[in-house]
Amino acid sequence: MSQIPHHPVLLNILQEVFGYAAFRGAQEAIIQHVTGSGDALVLMPTGGGKSLCYQIPAIARHRAGQGVTVVVSPLIALMHDQVGALEEAGVHAAFLNSTLSNEQASQVEREMMRGRLVMLYAAPERITNPRFLAQLDSLYERGLLSLFAIDEAHCVSQWGHDFRSEYLALSLLHERYPEVPRIALTATADELTRADIIERLRLEEARVFISSFDRPNIRYTIVEKDKPREQLLRFIREEHEMDAGVVYCQSRKKVEETADWLVSEGIKALPYHAGLDASLRQKHQDRFLREDSIVMVATIAFGMGIDKPDVRFVAHLDLPKNIESYYQETGRAGRDGEAAEAWMAYGLADVVNQRRMIDESPAGEEFKKGQRGKLDALLALAEATDCRRVRLLAYFGEASTSCGNCDNCLHPPATWDATESARKLLSCIYRFHQNGGQRFGAGHLIDVLRGKVTDKVTQYGHQSLSTWGVGADLPETQWRAVLRQLISLGHVLTEGEYMTLALADSARAVLKGEVQLLLRVPTVAPKRGKLSRVA
Ligand code: ADP
Ligand code: ZN
Repeated sequence: MSQIPHHPVLLNILQEVFGYAAFRGAQEAIIQHVTGSGDALVLMPTGGGKSLCYQIPAIARHRAGQGVTVVVSPLIALMHDQVGALEEAGVHAAFLNSTLSNEQASQVEREMMRGRLVMLYAAPERITNPRFLAQLDSLYERGLLSLFAIDEAHCVSQWGHDFRSEYLALSLLHERYPEVPRIALTATADELTRADIIERLRLEEARVFISSFDRPNIRYTIVEKDKPREQLLRFIREEHEMDAGVVYCQSRKKVEETADWLVSEGIKALPYHAGLDASLRQKHQDRFLREDSIVMVATIAFGMGIDKPDVRFVAHLDLPKNIESYYQETGRAGRDGEAAEAWMAYGLADVVNQRRMIDESPAGEEFKKGQRGKLDALLALAEATDCRRVRLLAYFGEASTSCGNCDNCLHPPATWDATESARKLLSCIYRFHQNGGQRFGAGHLIDVLRGKVTDKVTQYGHQSLSTWGVGADLPETQWRAVLRQLISLGHVLTEGEYMTLALADSARAVLKGEVQLLLRVPTVAPKRGKLSRVA
């Protein structure tokens, strides 16, 4: 058995091969552990520096005569980039995937079989290829199979949004090559996913390294949608004049409309979505990277692999589908460590939309249940009246205290007890149902509660309901907030094309007064000062 390289050797590799002065965060501990043949599960946010966590052990172990590190990655573009960068730095690396000709693939295999390759990047489906396995067997028998790195390890979990069935086969690595250490890496760290990774990849013995997900220089703000475009414009004008930023919208159409509108208001905005011509997309991306104050209005097609350090804000005009997406998208702000802002406008329609997308997706019931749970967590964040950061970090399993740099910390919202109003609202839905089984949407419900005479009210004779006008004391916006909260909490269900409302079983507890509901008092958004720097 060769000597385990000690710290100065590893630091030397960091400096000589990669040109960095010092390790970041948990990198050093992870690299040391893996280089010394320990299994590891690494949870680190995007941009945290996961790659070095297996690249440096790979180099150190190769130098110590332990052979080839196999890196499993589902992202072909990322494989190409990394292999290119490694070769540039003088580290012998290659990849095997469907983009190679037979000729090229055999060349790579020869290098691997001689044990000359330091790192081999492979797509997950390769691992079940009998020919490839026979090659790994041969390396293993000769003591030249050094390490397995499993990137994007959350792909093994069905809870995640990018489950890949080929990842399930990776458990065989442990069964077949028990002596070879493994490091699994991911930026998705909620507890369900984490438990899944450990179980399915047979990492029970692995040391788990969890890095903080906190991005202290990002200020989180979530506002209620009123006139979202005007709210966005005000936000940009008042706080981010001449700043580079990204505005995320859900649909291509909305991207185009929003970009056009911002331009007409004098903002340097450009659209970006997968439906645009590739050359135009490239052009917009280049301008965003090169110029100082471009606002990119984009679908989530924009962002992967874009490394612009001085993005000062990320705004959402539509709700992302879960906290992971929200975190990843907002995380593109303030990479340089300077003050930056994550701003989102959200409303009742967002909740209904996201729920409907899950309901109507062709996925299985079990999967949908997971997705609904994740959406609920995001809604709870959006509705929160306490520190956003505490909520966000808690989702990633991290405890923290009020941050002083989110909207709720800076302007603690007044709350009101909405328990009684929620009961009125739920009984009104119940009355509709009793009164002929008809279902209605939010607009009509609120009209009835507020006692507003409309054609529809007259048509259905809803003036005679016992809940008619019982909510005249509250304005419509406040009723919408109550309903939004009840939908977020799953007490009210929305159905069908017209988003009609129905009671969930859990509504019973609220009707009985067993659940207290505290809501924020709707306010006109306070005018906020310019961002101050965060130490
Ligand atoms: P992740 O895979 O976690 O998203 P990467 O491995 O791509 O992150 O690293 C993100 C960026 O940080 C890269 O540009 C990388 O070169 C850089 N980086 C990683 N570790 C260090 C370090 N110790 N010092 C300086 N830069 C680093
Ligand atoms: Zn806070």
